[in-house]
Amino acid sequence: MKIKKTVSFSKNSTNIFFHILTRCNLKCRHCYINPEQHGKNTLPLSTIVAWLRAFAEKSSPANVIFLGGEPTLHPELSSAIKQAKLMGYASVTIDTNGYLFHDILSKVGPDEVDYFSFSLDGATRQTNDRIRGEGSYSQCVAGIRDAVAKGFATSLIYTVSSANIHELRQMPPLLKELGISRFFIQVIGIRGKSAKARENLQVSRQEWISIIPQVAEEVAELGITVTYPKVFLDLEDPFECAGLVADNYFIFPNGRVYRCPLCEDFPIHSLYFENARLFPAEKINESDLFELSIPEGCVMNKLIQPENLTCKADCTTAEYKIACCMLKEEIFCG
Ligand code: SF4
Ligand code: SF4
Repeated sequence: MKIKKTVSFSKNSTNIFFHILTRCNLKCRHCYINPEQHGKNTLPLSTIVAWLRAFAEKSSPANVIFLGGEPTLHPELSSAIKQAKLMGYASVTIDTNGYLFHDILSKVGPDEVDYFSFSLDGATRQTNDRIRGEGSYSQCVAGIRDAVAKGFATSLIYTVSSANIHELRQMPPLLKELGISRFFIQVIGIRGKSAKARENLQVSRQEWISIIPQVAEEVAELGITVTYPKVFLDLEDPFECAGLVADNYFIFPNGRVYRCPLCEDFPIHSLYFENARLFPAEKINESDLFELSIPEGCVMNKLIQPENLTCKADCTTAEYKIACCMLKEEIFCG
């Protein structure tokens, strides 16, 4: 039986998206890392541990996702993972481009890492490498095979854009063959490089609606859990901002802590770390935007991507609302 549900921002969990460095060996066309805003430093292990501890003491155990840049470039990632486990984090995930530096798969075990999450942006070498760089497809696929062979659970992230949406339908058999257990479909965001280049990588509402849910169902039928962002809401659908109702933290190595990923290109973080302690940032910051209620849904989306909205013929009302980027649909076979 296929079960589909809207995951309301994981309301009952705390999620720590921890960028431990911004350095990366790749130069993906859509990379959202913005060193001017996020810093260029690599956090020492002592700082990673101190910042992890700041969130470990919350009432319900948090989930931590280690990111970069490429987190496996950090020589002490394995120690950070072990420390997170010792602190009682509910789950530990590593988001990686598949290069798996510092022999990470041999330094940690499947009992310490809940998921290695690989990024692949095409079903074929040609499409993926055009987006992520020459050789990245082979390396990622080899990394997945190695992780699966060593007993790790793996997930795969596919960032949908106009450059690869045509290959999404080829993904279900590939996911099955690779032994992937969770599939995340992401929407390209106008952040980082994509915002600067203003390259038209976005897909239309029509394309999104006609392709994404169908492919997600096909993948779920193979026994793989699929998550994808809702993106578009009908005008009568309820709208909620994750900044108000969820407990997500996006931490960068310069100490900035955001509650909303769309805000990450701007110095409007709501919190910051100083001397291993977390402080609220000065106003005005992103949290002031979360309170605003507009008919088109997400305020940040309207500010940075107004082209995503279309109005009705009379041009007095929007045709639809843009959902919070953290609102997801999840499908799995129960
Ligand atoms: S692998 Fe990730 S961090 Fe590295 S360039 Fe690509 S998108 Fe950016
Ligand atoms: S994406 Fe929009 S709705 Fe979601 S947290 Fe950010 S501002 Fe709020």
